[in-house]
Amino acid sequence: MASPSHRDALREPRYSRGIQRALACTPHPSASIAGSTRIARLESFYVRPRWLFVRIETEGGVVGWGEGTLEGHTEAVQGSLADVARRIVGWDAMNIEDIYAYLYRHRFYRGGEVLMSAMSGVDIALWDIKGKVLGVPVWQLLGGAVRERCEVYGWIGGDRPADVLEQARARKAQGFTKVKMNATEALGWLDSPHALDETVRRLEEVKSIGIDAGLDFHGRVHKPMAKQLARALEPHRPLFIEEPLLPGHVNELKDLYNKTTIPIALGERLFTRQDVRPYLEAGCIDIIQPDIAHAGGISETRKIATMAEAYDVGVAPHCPLGPLAFAASLQVGFATPNFVICEMSWQMHYNTGGFDLLTYMTNPEVFAVRDGHIDLLTAPGLGVELDEALIRAEAAEAATLPPWSNPVFRGPDGAVREW
Ligand SMILES: [Mg+2]
Repeated sequence: MASPSHRDALREPRYSRGIQRALACTPHPSASIAGSTRIARLESFYVRPRWLFVRIETEGGVVGWGEGTLEGHTEAVQGSLADVARRIVGWDAMNIEDIYAYLYRHRFYRGGEVLMSAMSGVDIALWDIKGKVLGVPVWQLLGGAVRERCEVYGWIGGDRPADVLEQARARKAQGFTKVKMNATEALGWLDSPHALDETVRRLEEVKSIGIDAGLDFHGRVHKPMAKQLARALEPHRPLFIEEPLLPGHVNELKDLYNKTTIPIALGERLFTRQDVRPYLEAGCIDIIQPDIAHAGGISETRKIATMAEAYDVGVAPHCPLGPLAFAASLQVGFATPNFVICEMSWQMHYNTGGFDLLTYMTNPEVFAVRDGHIDLLTAPGLGVELDEALIRAEAAEAATLPPWSNPVFRGPDGAVREW
């Protein structure tokens, strides 16, 4: 049953004529620059904590930023971007679909996390350019706003979840009403059922303070344990369970889906509509979680969302990444009817060494969390302004260091386990 405040909100007269705040817009300074929109150069910057930014500049001087972060595979995406940069210089940056079709369809080999992350970075930067040239935010180009704020969730716990209650309290104090946490540490294919007890206890603790929690199985939980864990969690009603099985197990996921009422979310390791299609057709997910920095950028994430809507599947962009991926995800969220919630990496456990979601931004106020939501981004393009000098200096420093990679998980017998 809806709370009184929710019912009041639904009756508010300001919604009787739609989303009025969508009218707010201030032209970007670069939009007035006369000149060609042909691509002059493409650069990429690896910056800590683990992000890969893409910068595209037009001959007319408009700069668009994108993000093709592929955690733990930075050099592979940098190689792909070097190839892409060589090919699309001189193309009209405004023709996003044509560039996408060329990079995806024309070159025979396609898809996968490396090529698609590179393409994602390019695609997001092109949408940023288009918005800046036309003087409108990206959501305006996607059909206009269907909501005036996007719900977001923060992380608690980390890779080795321990005491989460204090962290949940801190998130609540920051304004979050929903969080996500890893369900388990590394698990064996067949582990002790007792290994799952802690998961249930932690969910109970977090929910005791009145916030909801999604549980990320992270592909760590193989089938013999996943069906036990879903059953054990069911009475405690998690918001969703994420990647309850590794991608690729469509039939097995369908079996699990039929055993539980908990919403099943998945999609961060699916790239393009083609990868998503069998999950929708099998009817084994409730929430699709495309990662805009891997799935094909704004163009492909929007298409995945539209395809999912036909199956009554909601969209919750996966985004434990940087400010450009987050802004791009929100832009899609503002314009997409079946958007439900977006991941936000602010103060996430991966953001170490003094580098966080807001570090490279000169307008961090646009990501302020209020009542669990981010307000409509109204500036042209992605709506994010960056400190380019800081990015260039950090990229030069980070280039002397090994890029981020995930920790290695091994079982008591020494064998590799899923991270
Ligand atoms: Mg996940």
